[in-house]
Amino acid sequence: MTGNDGHDDKMHEECGVFGIWNHADAAAVTALGLHALQHRGQEATGIVSFDGQRFHSHKALGLVGDNFSEAKVIASLPGMRALGHNRYATTGDTVLRNVQPLYADFEFGGLAVAHNGNLTNATALRRALVRRGCLFQSTTDSEVFIHLIAISLYSTVVDRLIDALKQVIGAYSLIAMSDGALMGVRDPLGVRPLILGRLPPTEGNGGWVLASETCALDIVGAEFVRDVEPGEIVVITDQGVQSIKPFGKSASRFCVFEYIYFARPDSVVEGMPVYAARKRIGAQLARESHVAADVIVPVPDSGVPAAMGYATESAIPFELGIIRNHYVGRTFIEPTDSIRHLGVKLKHSANKPMLEGKRVILVDDSIVRGTTSRKIVEMVRHAGAAEVHMRISSPPTTYSCFYGIDTPERGKLLAASHTVEEMAELIGADSLAFISLDGLYEALNKGPRNDARPQYCDACFTGDYPISLPDMIDNDTRQLSLLTESR
Ligand code: AMP
Repeated sequence: MTGNDGHDDKMHEECGVFGIWNHADAAAVTALGLHALQHRGQEATGIVSFDGQRFHSHKALGLVGDNFSEAKVIASLPGMRALGHNRYATTGDTVLRNVQPLYADFEFGGLAVAHNGNLTNATALRRALVRRGCLFQSTTDSEVFIHLIAISLYSTVVDRLIDALKQVIGAYSLIAMSDGALMGVRDPLGVRPLILGRLPPTEGNGGWVLASETCALDIVGAEFVRDVEPGEIVVITDQGVQSIKPFGKSASRFCVFEYIYFARPDSVVEGMPVYAARKRIGAQLARESHVAADVIVPVPDSGVPAAMGYATESAIPFELGIIRNHYVGRTFIEPTDSIRHLGVKLKHSANKPMLEGKRVILVDDSIVRGTTSRKIVEMVRHAGAAEVHMRISSPPTTYSCFYGIDTPERGKLLAASHTVEEMAELIGADSLAFISLDGLYEALNKGPRNDARPQYCDACFTGDYPISLPDMIDNDTRQLSLLTESR
């Protein structure tokens, strides 16, 4: 394998996936789809195409636009079918060998896999597979699928895929492309999103699209057909779309943080437009925790729709009191705390006339480490605000996510070890409030939260992890046994 190899201990990957079946410009359309999904991963990107006989691949570190805008790159990816991936990782090196889609040759032909999410038994499976002689080329969870498919005793690719899926535990969406089919899979609880779209027939039958979010359909002119269902495998061939449900039925637990922050606001997720949902969350936040103020200011861009909802509900003017520089990536991309501090200053600046002498309510979607809020509050005060109140459109983030959203370990989550009052003091705000969990469910038309059967995965706010965490337990047991041995 070419590239800057190294070690990458990254386990949690937020990603965007896009696959297309039967389009004359499959690779170019995949590049467009990945561009629309850029917010789901900015560190690396890749496309694998299939021309009916051979697979072709181009993978690189960096953004889609920087890697797939040249005609010669697209020309090197011929064929009517393609699969693409955007990857987002925050710790360890991003190395080319981890960039997806992963590709391997089998007795049944070639198979490319692009995966979004996290397997919670990947370490245990990997250990077992290595013992059986499987040689891993990367540290990404997707490679576990490749090996499980390789050693499966079933003959068809779909049966082998099902065999592999029955052994993995986790929250994932996956697209796989073989010589004869494009397959899309969602984990049994449907924690991560995946949708099916259709391209209008220009010649022949028209094509099919699988993508993480609907915003990737709009850019390529495809129509939304439906969400892939939790636990469903859709198999796209020239005969059409076949649906397989090998896991039996379980109630879905879609990731609530996709609504709060992760999905693009113009996407429709699980039947609900994200933009409208964020506005309703903002309105609910205003009903729960309003204070007297002169102006509602969003922390751009993530806080904008919630701040709009807040402003409408409270009848206080909405102003862009903070301006974002769009040529700086997300703060989280910066790997060290010191650079992260710098990143916030690079990214946001105060729009002084909108803040000077005013009682300001700042609205953002979440507080993770508290770095952003602290810097923003300081900046707004420095610009002359009379009061600075912070309102957050999610409940306090008190637990790490092991299902594919990048949150740091618990010790680094400000809300895990501080009360709301302590957090207000730390970030320097006159007051701080978060939306309540029930309020969040209400705003998503699902509330109040049914504690016996919650409709969403909200583990980052509640510690209620709906999918088992064997690797974690395994690690704890191993550490315990090491401790006992050393005694
Ligand atoms: P922090 O500065 O650590 O408190 O992070 C909070 C900021 O990061 C907020 O402005 C969020 O919009 C943003 N944020 C929250 N979760 C994530 C995530 N998983 N990836 C990237 N950014 C995030």
